[in-house]
Amino acid sequence: MRNPIEVYGVDVDQESRCTHYHSQVDIVALKFRCCRKFYACYQCHQETTDHPPEKWPLDERDHHAILCGHCRKTMSIDEYMNVNECPHCQHAFNAGCKNHYPLYFDME
Ligand SMILES: [Zn+2]
Ligand SMILES: [Zn+2]
Ligand SMILES: [Zn+2]
Repeated sequence: MRNPIEVYGVDVDQESRCTHYHSQVDIVALKFRCCRKFYACYQCHQETTDHPPEKWPLDERDHHAILCGHCRKTMSIDEYMNVNECPHCQHAFNAGCKNHYPLYFDME
């Protein structure tokens, strides 16, 4: 059964790829703290809202803010930062996403 979590953004496909990030491994969607909605990427959030993104503070890294677009299951920020593939379905994640952590999460 498919999880009904909706992913917002620009040209979002079935596996949460978007117009900005659409390689085979770009399947992760992130929930933004400000709107409590999942977006395919930070650019999608920027282009479809009128407010600056709110990052997840260090003490909220147990929040399930990450969605695998392949199996539609969620994981905590902590969990996500420690894997290179989905812990549920083993679909590979884009390793380049690690460079974007500071856009979504407070780092220190
Ligand atoms: Zn927002
Ligand atoms: Zn996007
Ligand atoms: Zn998965």
